[in-house]
Amino acid sequence: MKILVTGGVGYIGSHTVVDLIENGHDIVILDNLCNSKIEVLDKIKEITGKAPAFMVGDIRNRSDVDNVFNTHHDIDAVIHFAGLKAVGESCEKPLLYYDNNIAGTVTLLKSMSAHGCKRIVFSSSATVYGDPATVPVTEDFPLSTTNPYGSTKLYIEQILKDLCASDSEWDATLLRYFNPVGAHESTLLGENPNGIPNNLMPYIMKVACGKLEKLHIFGDDYPTADGTGVRDYIHVCDLAHGHTLAISKLDGLKIYNLGTGTGYSVLDMVKAFEKANNIKLPYCIDPRRPGDVAVNFADPAKAKEELGFEATRTLEDMCRTSYEFAKKNFK
Ligand code: NAD
Ligand code: UDP
Repeated sequence: MKILVTGGVGYIGSHTVVDLIENGHDIVILDNLCNSKIEVLDKIKEITGKAPAFMVGDIRNRSDVDNVFNTHHDIDAVIHFAGLKAVGESCEKPLLYYDNNIAGTVTLLKSMSAHGCKRIVFSSSATVYGDPATVPVTEDFPLSTTNPYGSTKLYIEQILKDLCASDSEWDATLLRYFNPVGAHESTLLGENPNGIPNNLMPYIMKVACGKLEKLHIFGDDYPTADGTGVRDYIHVCDLAHGHTLAISKLDGLKIYNLGTGTGYSVLDMVKAFEKANNIKLPYCIDPRRPGDVAVNFADPAKAKEELGFEATRTLEDMCRTSYEFAKKNFK
């Protein structure tokens, strides 16, 4: 298939482009590089031997999106990663998030429709489950959000549901990611956030490389085995492959959790990272972070049954590849 990947230069997008190319697909990337670096394209070529077509542009700009479809007439489907993702920033700048994520998606969908391309895989998030009443979480759990970033994911899901209901020609698969971590085995691709990271694994990576002094664990009084928050960490290469499976099974409206089904606490992560990399990670206990939930992990059974999706990489793989990437790439 010929696939347009929006946000394909970013963390999850770049790993997915590699997996798609390795599975024989032809890729066109549209990215405005607001949170990624153009050098990633060379890394993708180094890994796969093939350079994806790239157009710099913004999904909010209709002419940028039209330009992609006018240049590449035969796009079969879109995988839509482009979006802003920092929860804290979304609380400070909600209009930026609604404009970039929601208005951007609407513009993308209008252009797709005008060019007769009505097949999309969308990057949603486990954040749409809010504070789940029980775990593991299945796709039919009630949906809610606690911040503007989460609201953008929820609203875009609704837009895609409405679109599929209005026109049977649309196929939309909503992939609800749990916590993607890790890096490509080559150490050429990985997550390299600017400034102080919000998420656990990039923060651990910065501490491990001596860029930050110690990890601040947000709360040790949750109702979990060791008191720290529990999440479902999934290797980004497993997550990436989920998109390759999903794109080949687009059929009406589909929703899948992409996780491993296993929850690990923050302290479990610290211990696993120390063991995998034979290093010591200094940490301290801080108060809970506002808006955090105690436990969230997936029931991945539906993705396994319908897509054949199964995360195969271990926690050790996640910790080892993260550190290897950080050592080579954190300046
Ligand atoms: P990322 O920031 O590394 O990648 C996003 C890419 O989109 C970047 O290359 C950025 O430059 C581009 N982009 C942003 N706004 C754009 C716009 N208006 N026009 C064109 N390009 C634009 O983030 P990521 O971690 O790879 O996440 C990809 C998607 O997955 C996002 O939609 C994110 O919300 C979603 N997601 C991420 C996580 C996570 O923990 N990383 C979890 C759940 C869902
Ligand atoms: N966390 C932490 N210190 C950090 C970042 C995160 O203790 O510097 C904890 C956080 O409270 C949560 C877990 O690590 O329990 C995962 O947080 P992250 O932001 O990576 O993912 P999310 O909360 O969005 O699932």
